[in-house]
Amino acid sequence: MKLSIEIFPPKNGDTREIATSFLRAGASHISVTYGAGGSDQLLSKQESLSLAILGVPVTAHITVAGQTRQEVDEILSVWHRAGIRRFVALRGDGDGPGQPFTPHPDGYPSSIELIERIAQMGALQISVAAYPNGHPDSRSPDADLDFLKRKEDAGATEAITQFFFSADTYLRFRDRCAAAGIGLDIIPGIMPVFDFGKVASFARKCGEPIPSWVADRFDGLEEKPEMHYQVAAATAASLCERLASESVSRVHLYSCNRVDLTLAIARLITHPEPISKAA
Ligand SMILES: Cc1cc2nc3c(=O)[nH]c(=O)nc-3n(C[C@H](O)[C@H](O)[C@H](O)COP(=O)(O)OP(=O)(O)OC[C@H]3O[C@@H](n4cnc5c(N)ncnc54)[C@H](O)[C@@H]3O)c2cc1C
Repeated sequence: MKLSIEIFPPKNGDTREIATSFLRAGASHISVTYGAGGSDQLLSKQESLSLAILGVPVTAHITVAGQTRQEVDEILSVWHRAGIRRFVALRGDGDGPGQPFTPHPDGYPSSIELIERIAQMGALQISVAAYPNGHPDSRSPDADLDFLKRKEDAGATEAITQFFFSADTYLRFRDRCAAAGIGLDIIPGIMPVFDFGKVASFARKCGEPIPSWVADRFDGLEEKPEMHYQVAAATAASLCERLASESVSRVHLYSCNRVDLTLAIARLITHPEPISKAA
């Protein structure tokens, strides 16, 4: 199975070292998230650029939230000059927790216009976000799919899903995309449960349901980091294994910069037990 691995630019860490270890573990690309604003955003701009200059295959995330078109266009051209041709094109979120997204008065109104702009630049890959359980801003699951279709028509080349816990969630969504005439590859986004409390809180913010079997699996492991880690690695790897059995050939790992956990999962999914033909 192929892998792309997502990192966020660490405030006090060596991005190059993290990226290199993920590439050695089989990642085809390192995708670098775009900060929600201020110094985080500046760091993202610099880190994507530095990695590209060092020859790391980078996919640069970019959002339109809170920025003018000129600001977005400027960073896109800097990255383009540095050879970056793969992007994750996003709208981004509102200003604060629970705040609705409002476009900047001089900014791109939505992800659609950003995708069109990146397509004009001759990008090799324009990934967009997809939501198997629907995005909290969508009017209905069908409206969410219509919007994904609009992203494809605007020039998106693939979609990476929001994280989910159950393979059936992804498989049903893939079927619904196909039935809606969406031809994009739908790449499953896998979030290892590196810390159940943190992941559960993040899931609540994104409107992602946590199945009770996942909560049960991690119940009581707060004070047992080693066992928590082993259960997290096994949970993510078995989800990927099930997806592979359903013809999924690539996953996108949200590493959350948990290097060892991500490397363990990468090992498990890039070296599956061969299936015996005689069986
Ligand atoms: C793979 C992935 C990577 C991410 N990386 C980052 C990152 O690097 N930095 C960051 O800040 N955030 C990131 N996010 C989070 C993302 O910014 C949020 O989920 C955000 O709320 C939505 O961004 P989007 O591009 O999916 O929005 P969109 O898909 O453009 O909009 C969200 C939803 O709102 C509805 N909608 C929006 N506009 C319209 C319209 N005009 N008409 C009808 N319906 C509409 C649709 O249902 C749509 O699915 C990432 C998410 C994913 C899944």
